[in-house]
Amino acid sequence: MNHHYCPLCFAEIPIGVENCPACGRNIEAWERQTPYYDRLIWALKNPHSEVRMGAILSLANQQHPEAAGPLAECALEYPVDVVQGMAILNAIDHLPAGPEKNRALEKLSKHPAHAVRVSAQENLARIS
Ligand SMILES: [Zn+2]
Repeated sequence: MNHHYCPLCFAEIPIGVENCPACGRNIEAWERQTPYYDRLIWALKNPHSEVRMGAILSLANQQHPEAAGPLAECALEYPVDVVQGMAILNAIDHLPAGPEKNRALEKLSKHPAHAVRVSAQENLARIS
């Protein structure tokens, strides 16, 4: 795993650069000024699956109920990625109960991947 990506524009960049050669932004300043939770939500839009997966696992531990919506959107953005879809369901399962969680599971119970859809329906039935 020698790949390193700009957390802002997602271009592949050399390790240790201060400003991204692609977007020109100061990476270190952005990381310092942007709350960890916001950076995780932004990372869900990263085109590289290993970065998204890291953000999904971290969001499961962060316990912000409002993460459920962006997580569900991420799963729907990659309809054929069943592994990611299941990881997202697991992350949503770890979030505190609330309307955000229910709405996210309702969205995912219409996910194109059968395994994700069925699992979302089961989770929804379990909590409602
Ligand atoms: Zn960049």
